[in-house]
Amino acid sequence: MSDLNFSCTQCGKCCHDLRLPLTRPEAVAWLQRGGTVEVLCEAVPWVTEPATSDAPAMHKRQRSFPAWSGELPIRVIVVLAATFKGACPNLGSDMRCGIYDNRPHVCRIYPAEVNPFLSVTPSHKQCPPEAWTSPTPFVRANQIVAAQTQLHMSLLRHGEQLDIAVKAWACKELDIQSASLSNEGFMAHCPSPEALLSVLQQTPPVVDDRSSRSHWSMVTNQAATFDALCLAGATPMYARAIADGPSRYLGFRPDAPPQEQSA
Ligand code: SF4
Repeated sequence: MSDLNFSCTQCGKCCHDLRLPLTRPEAVAWLQRGGTVEVLCEAVPWVTEPATSDAPAMHKRQRSFPAWSGELPIRVIVVLAATFKGACPNLGSDMRCGIYDNRPHVCRIYPAEVNPFLSVTPSHKQCPPEAWTSPTPFVRANQIVAAQTQLHMSLLRHGEQLDIAVKAWACKELDIQSASLSNEGFMAHCPSPEALLSVLQQTPPVVDDRSSRSHWSMVTNQAATFDALCLAGATPMYARAIADGPSRYLGFRPDAPPQEQSA
């Protein structure tokens, strides 16, 4: 998921929600320390299987599980995200990380991107200029140079794939059944920490893949998307129809509701 915001040891100035994508073990540890973890859901229509040479589509496939929205086959991408406002709760008054030896992979790869199809843009990061060149360049020919960073990037991505079965099962157990349309935003579900911790610590039962596919609503704040999802046989829902509660829609674009019918 490319639009999450990240924080690092140098950051403590932001006043909006920041999110760190976590693997399941990292989410368990974050919850056990008293932190907040959200379940971010987005969905992609998946009518036909992509060619194996379609790297972006295969990347989405590898980190998602199959489901239905109405009559439309979809794949659901779930990200466990530590969420906090302003400074990370692990950042000490000395601006040092209080869990440095156990910090999540995403902190270890910063300023690299979790999404392998995004290039690193220094102007979008909070690193001082010398961090990009000393002692060696951080990026060379659009490739991350540091072996340790590469290692944690692959561990994070591998962890995402390992966690798919438990994420699918956790959503069922927690009654999470709504996702944004991918690339428009995401649905942020915030179950109780106790319930989320409990389900993440269990081993999901082995189930038949096809018969166990869950049914999802696809949430949008765009009238054109709503209409297109209807035509495709999906079960769409307007973001504004979501009641205040533990779930909210976070769109990347301003609301574009349907035009009111003239009398
Ligand atoms: S866990 Fe540590 S390194 Fe990661 S954002 Fe928080 S303070 Fe920074």
